[in-house]
Amino acid sequence: MPKTIITRIKRKLTFDDIEKRSFLKETDELTGLLTSGYFYDYASSNKEFLSCPKMDAVTVNINHFHLYNELYGMNEGDQVLKLVGGKLKKFADEKGGIASRSEADNFSMYLPHQDSYEELANDILKCIQKDFHVHNTGIRFGINDSIDQKNERLEMAFDRARSAGDAVDKDAKKMIVYYDSSVRKQRMFEERLLRDIHEAIAKKQFKVLYQPKYDVTEDLPILKGAEALVRWEHPELGTIYPSKFISLFEEHGLIQLLDDYVWRKTAKQIREWKDKYKVSIPVSVNVSRIDIQEHDVVEHLLGIVKQANINVSDLHLEITESACATDTNQLIETVKRFRENGFIIEMDDFGSGYSSLNMLTSLPIDVLKVDMRFMENIKEDRKNVRMVELVKEIADFLKVPVVAEGVEQQEQLDTLKELGCQMIQGYYFSKPVGVQEFETLNGWRKASA
Ligand code: C2E
Ligand code: CA
Ligand code: CA
Repeated sequence: MPKTIITRIKRKLTFDDIEKRSFLKETDELTGLLTSGYFYDYASSNKEFLSCPKMDAVTVNINHFHLYNELYGMNEGDQVLKLVGGKLKKFADEKGGIASRSEADNFSMYLPHQDSYEELANDILKCIQKDFHVHNTGIRFGINDSIDQKNERLEMAFDRARSAGDAVDKDAKKMIVYYDSSVRKQRMFEERLLRDIHEAIAKKQFKVLYQPKYDVTEDLPILKGAEALVRWEHPELGTIYPSKFISLFEEHGLIQLLDDYVWRKTAKQIREWKDKYKVSIPVSVNVSRIDIQEHDVVEHLLGIVKQANINVSDLHLEITESACATDTNQLIETVKRFRENGFIIEMDDFGSGYSSLNMLTSLPIDVLKVDMRFMENIKEDRKNVRMVELVKEIADFLKVPVVAEGVEQQEQLDTLKELGCQMIQGYYFSKPVGVQEFETLNGWRKASA
């Protein structure tokens, strides 16, 4: 037998062995909880469970867990997992149930029905806050307490529990959600969107709207750019806003498909405006953290720019601050490559929480967009004013302009101007609008001067 084949068989054998061994492993090394393979076997064959009239399938996750590893290191992340695992194991043992961890922060418990998980959730949260000095954290429980043990596969019962847990707003304080008709409805809606996306792209159901950005440093505001924002005109479900589908598509690896469509459409529009008005109105597109993980994202966007026959600097790229917490090194590398090729980078939602100031010095950017939430009550709320002042100071240090988003009222505009913000985007000037309406906006002629 040729040597390469022998080596291949040997290698295959080793892989199979490893797989078998880890599958057979009863407990997870880090937390001491059951592994998921063993957990399901045990849960579905244990006689006491089978004779129990009501069992709960519970899934537990830590909100934004990847940030612990990113911001504080793997070791710190492991310690958090150990703490949560320990608490869950103790609780499950006491109540006559079992607990497992499958990967990262995916915990499950299978136990006789409990009236409340509130105390357990509060206890875990308090301990995380105390031991790790993180206050901006959360934990979410998804609970399916209506399992039909005879007719339902246990994996399915847990899948439902998990979808309840996923329905929790990860930044909200609410921690516990039961699988019920509203979760079921939400899940069906999401499944529908996932099913329909391909046809929607083919049939051009996604519409790109443009929201203007005005330079307010002069007396008369000047139209200086726009942001492209997508809407889904669904033939049966009506207009669907991005908050309903962007993160869903991100989770399912479909955002690249939609963003490619939006980027192409926007690049084409920039060309049309150049031809029609003989001006360059740079338009920014949103670049998701999932897009950034694609190794050829820079070449992809360069290709779009080339095909539309516009300048690289006409198509600005908005990268959200939370993207920065996923894989910092890769993000910095990608952003550097974008800029080397002439793209302008706008840091979106700046100040919303997760980027470290430290990183800003190594992440080259061209514009800071201050997070919309600081516009609330900006006149009275000193904290928000101070936040905008801080962002402005950082921007001045980096020698980049500030765009304030979500500006709706005259008072907000006045305060922002006083604070030295150069660019404004918000309903005060215009909502995101279609091409025709965008062309009737004020400030075009000045822009062409
Ligand atoms: P974003 O990038 O922060 O976009 C700004 C959001 O604020 C937009 O919501 C915009 O319509 C809204 N907005 C603008 N001015 C005001 C204002 O004065 N008051 C208030 N209350 N809201 C204002 P939209 O269009 O619903 O988009 C939501 C988010 O979805 C965007 O937040 C962005 O993160 C994402 N998104 C939108 N289009 C795309 C896209 O094509 N690709 C990707 N990856 N994400 C997108
Ligand atoms: Ca944006
Ligand atoms: Ca934003």
